[in-house]
Amino acid sequence: MSKVIQAVRGMNDLLPDVIEHWQRVEDVSRDVLHAYGYREIRFPVLEKTELFARSIGQDTDIVEKEMYTFEDRNGDSLTLRPEGTAGCVRAGIENGLLHNQMQRFWYAGAMFRHERPQKGRYRQFHQIGVEAFGMPGPDIDAELILLTARLWNALAVEGLSLQINSLGTPESRARYRQELVRYLESRRADLDEDSQRRLNRNPLRILDSKNPAMREVINEAPSMMDHLDDASRKHFEQLCKYLDRADLRYDINPRLVRGLDYYTRTVFEWVTDRLGSQATVCAGGRYDGLVEMLGGKPTPAAGFALGMERLVELLAQQGSSVNDTKPQIYLAIVGESAVIQQGMRLAESLRDQGLRVVCNCGGGNLKTQLKRADRSGARYALLLGEEESKRQSITIKDLRQGEDQVLVPQSAVVKHLKQRLV
Ligand code: ATP
Ligand code: MG
Repeated sequence: MSKVIQAVRGMNDLLPDVIEHWQRVEDVSRDVLHAYGYREIRFPVLEKTELFARSIGQDTDIVEKEMYTFEDRNGDSLTLRPEGTAGCVRAGIENGLLHNQMQRFWYAGAMFRHERPQKGRYRQFHQIGVEAFGMPGPDIDAELILLTARLWNALAVEGLSLQINSLGTPESRARYRQELVRYLESRRADLDEDSQRRLNRNPLRILDSKNPAMREVINEAPSMMDHLDDASRKHFEQLCKYLDRADLRYDINPRLVRGLDYYTRTVFEWVTDRLGSQATVCAGGRYDGLVEMLGGKPTPAAGFALGMERLVELLAQQGSSVNDTKPQIYLAIVGESAVIQQGMRLAESLRDQGLRVVCNCGGGNLKTQLKRADRSGARYALLLGEEESKRQSITIKDLRQGEDQVLVPQSAVVKHLKQRLV
């Protein structure tokens, strides 16, 4: 026997039992996004490496050590997308959708990062991403946040709370950065190895450290809020008012930074204490400089991405219900080809009526077929044997709730089943 080939580490198979949660999240998200006028966009999973290097930032974890980068057969350096915003912006510029326009886009799909796999952190993971272009004010920031709140409501997901912060403009951030570095240098002895390394290259990321030993140093750091420029401060205050008026609860977290370099002003995260250290389920903010950085005309923008694996894990943990996609009926057929033919016709007519029907294939005696019926998850088995076939009738057997077995004419089976299945 040949050796079994296993999946790549950190890349998961999503099996049918879990997929039902995924499908529910996808269906509900799509409806909520469309309710706000966002339209789906799809762009490639592979892009030129330069796209991510330029947008996400050379000194970020993603670009430094997490990208799946390779040379293709022409010697071009390509990278599997580690996130969606860069590709979305590239597609928007390239197709002339951004300049002097307002756009609301969403996308969903797989992202790839070479991280250390653990619960809630994988090397292939999935995001639903949302991006809004051409709107500079805090109104769109508020809309994006309200949209996420509506989504949690619609999914009935529990245990998420909202944190917001402002990163100011690149100029105010640069001033804050200097102050932060001064402070961190004074605490150099207390910094862990990661933070020492980041001190000169990307000191703001130190605030995002997940090492508990770093908490005290971080808590005593100067606050970004105290270093905002006036326009950013007004923007932030107005956002807070919009959220207040919508009765949305939030915490201002002046240590909230994002792992990607392109954010400006508003940043937000939805976090939970139910997933261990992989606490962020949804994260986003404003990125007014990115379109220009990627060669487009200056265009204000804001967006967010939610992590499907983490959201699904939360829903599964709280035992939330899923879309039922299991068959309702299993048709057992015991007989020669004429009986099988009659059974197939009957199954098709049931499907015409909107019922989900598995038709037995591969033969087997009645006992075997009933076992298959049970395993399929169907509520009813229909039994079609030589006798039933001759009389154009069929037996309805309840597999779950002990209703009496009945023999009915085939012409009446839909009526019988529909009565029982409502
Ligand atoms: P983290 O701080 O957890 O590493 P991040 O800041 O790198 O997250 P983003 O790039 O903002 O994450 O991605 C948005 C969301 O995508 C995250 O909040 C999370 O839910 C999800 N996500 C990011 N990386 C992974 C991963 N490796 N595995 C699973 N989900 C992920
Ligand atoms: Mg990360």
